[in-house]
Amino acid sequence: MSATPDRRVNPILELAYEPNIADLGDEYYDPVPAADFPKHLLRFRNDEVLAKLGLDPTKVSDEQFVDAFGRFAGFGHPFLAMRYHGYQFGSYNNMLGDGRGFLAGQVRGTDGELYDFGTKGSGKTPHSRGGDGRLTLKGGVREILASETLHRMGVRTSRTLSIIETGEELWRGDEPSPTRSSVMVRFSRSHVRFGTFERLHYLKMTGRDTTPLVARLLDRVISTYYPEIELSPDPQANADTAYVEFYTDLVKRTAALAAQWMAAGFCHAVLNTDNMSITGESFDYGPFAFIETYDRQFTAAYFDYSGRYSYGNQPGICKLNLEMLQTPLGMVVDREAMKSAMESYDEAFFAAYEFEMARKLGFTDLDAETRRNLVKTTVSLFETYELRYPDFFAQLRREFSSAWRDDAARIFPDAEPPEVLNEWREVYHHLLQTRSDEELGAIAETLNINPLVVPIRPEIEAIWEPITERDDWEPFYELLDRIRA
Ligand code: AMP
Ligand code: MG
Repeated sequence: MSATPDRRVNPILELAYEPNIADLGDEYYDPVPAADFPKHLLRFRNDEVLAKLGLDPTKVSDEQFVDAFGRFAGFGHPFLAMRYHGYQFGSYNNMLGDGRGFLAGQVRGTDGELYDFGTKGSGKTPHSRGGDGRLTLKGGVREILASETLHRMGVRTSRTLSIIETGEELWRGDEPSPTRSSVMVRFSRSHVRFGTFERLHYLKMTGRDTTPLVARLLDRVISTYYPEIELSPDPQANADTAYVEFYTDLVKRTAALAAQWMAAGFCHAVLNTDNMSITGESFDYGPFAFIETYDRQFTAAYFDYSGRYSYGNQPGICKLNLEMLQTPLGMVVDREAMKSAMESYDEAFFAAYEFEMARKLGFTDLDAETRRNLVKTTVSLFETYELRYPDFFAQLRREFSSAWRDDAARIFPDAEPPEVLNEWREVYHHLLQTRSDEELGAIAETLNINPLVVPIRPEIEAIWEPITERDDWEPFYELLDRIRA
């Protein structure tokens, strides 16, 4: 008999789970079982996230990860496939919902906030339609790279908690098939989507009185994710005040998120309303890409023929999605007030974008006009001179030195000096001239927001090849380390 590790006390299962969504009632979800997989190979565990949950990573074994997030054994509460609809590429789809995932549990972080464990690839549900309910291993690896890079860049994003390879063969049109399978657990603020509300409005159109369901869900969203907003027992008061405050805040959060994607050089690729979180957090990374050069028309999903979700369209699409959300929210929220709230979107976006870009350039203390000028000069540098977007910021972080203050010619001295680069150098140099050594140190510190490497597509292919060819995961783990450095 071989000794088996003590799995009895699994710290993941011992967390204090809260039935925040489960308590709302079964109108919002379907309880589902997890699939039974032939194999469980832990490929990634995110110890940073364990720490956020107050767990000591050294006390959680790989076996325990597999028991919880591969076998889904021992939770003692039902798993919930969430019901939702959404606009996909502009057309309404009433056949969505968690088709390959479920809400595995909700827990508090050490920061006091509530978080979801949401799965991807955990088996079929009533919403799977013709799908197999599975996630490819490459899809899982790609989601790790997106979420961990965005997190590293300070973007408000879900995290990837674990990827377990599950030993099945999958057939996919967009990967050489058969391809390997995996199950992922995502750590996010919420899996309530714009489309969760859109579904309730759709049901109303088919004759059901879903208004109380919208109000109940919205109250829960506000009390959980917008706790500074005070709800009233009076529905009319909420319609005019609390709900409007919520929508106004969501508009700001979503504008800020679009700004973060733009500064990060990130193209989400599938900004359907079922991929828009009601908390303003970024999540669900499918055919995403980080841009190599600044190209507003860059489109990441091969099936996005019109470029609807191109890199440069993201702020506009988020705005449109927020506007469409007024329809279901209009069941309980004052419509005119929502329209007015939307008027602040553009300004909120540009202010956030300029803040994010200035921070990538090392500055958090510029006045609005100086900041705008710096960002404008930087963007026109990218527009006129084919610089590699992530490399520019990585190089800035690596090469920045206090000597730049004294001599503009030392700023990126190796670069060919076309006119626009000279212009940029002058603007940048001008901002350094009045700075003390201490302030220059702070700028160098701020520049650490830029990762030394960003997983643009060739980087992803480069780590994927050794995995498929010889099951060599080292380059992948090394890439993750370099991203996190
Ligand atoms: P996504 O593109 O991942 O945001 O998914 C869009 C919709 O398709 C969601 O309702 C998913 O649950 C569903 N879906 C995607 N892939 C699969 C699959 N392999 N099996 C079942 N449903 C899926
Ligand atoms: Mg999705």
